[in-house]
Amino acid sequence: MYSHVVFSIAIVALVSPCHGYMKLYKVTNLIEDNFPICRTGLRQSPIDLNNEAQILHTYYLPFEFENYDRLTSVSVIIGKDGHTVNSTSKWENEDLAVSASETIPRYKFLDLHLHWARSHEPGTEHAFYGRRYDAELHLVHINSAYKDFEEALQYEDGFLVLGALLKTIPKHRANHLISISASEDDYGVFNINFNKFNEISAVFSYSGSLTTPPCTENVLWVVPRHPFEVSPLTIKALRRLSKDSNSSNVRSLQKLNDREVYLFTI
Ligand SMILES: [Zn+2]
Repeated sequence: MYSHVVFSIAIVALVSPCHGYMKLYKVTNLIEDNFPICRTGLRQSPIDLNNEAQILHTYYLPFEFENYDRLTSVSVIIGKDGHTVNSTSKWENEDLAVSASETIPRYKFLDLHLHWARSHEPGTEHAFYGRRYDAELHLVHINSAYKDFEEALQYEDGFLVLGALLKTIPKHRANHLISISASEDDYGVFNINFNKFNEISAVFSYSGSLTTPPCTENVLWVVPRHPFEVSPLTIKALRRLSKDSNSSNVRSLQKLNDREVYLFTI
């Protein structure tokens, strides 16, 4: 049943303007060699988030997750490259966005994808104090002033990516941020609980880049300070997807250079 669903939705995704990231990522076979900034840029991502961060104690977090509380279990189909091959209409009907202070634009949710390692190596892109975990969920948002991914690529304030590090715990618990519900060799069906972001009490934030080509340095990163728990079955399902792959979808840590990293904590 799922193969039919995946096939039909994938066609829609390739022609739909709201799936620009996937289109770019899949169709043009982007590699870092074609984009010099991936090697020479000074504000690249991911980075190690550590005690060089400026700690700012606040009464409430400066980022607001608009309408995230309305989505407690969204079913998505994730393909081998970590990107969604199906976004349910559920989030498209919601006005999901991240907003902050008046000096920062409002960013509307576009799409999500995951990074993980093929085996037991660490699979997060970012690290906390030198430590990486098992997988990383990226919720890509574009500045609401721009109409799609391609337009946002052209501007310094194009993107906000909410990056959630995922850490395996031995036991399955209900209400995880992400959990597997069906697994095949080519895709997995995962439930995502957006509401978990409303429980965050601390986030790192810094200016960085897309972690895949074209590596443009126009991303405001927001990374919750603590990893979210996931079950071993969820990580196993991700690894099953990439078991025949020769390449990992995890980028190595990049230099901080002269950037500031902030840790907002309540
Ligand atoms: Zn990513």
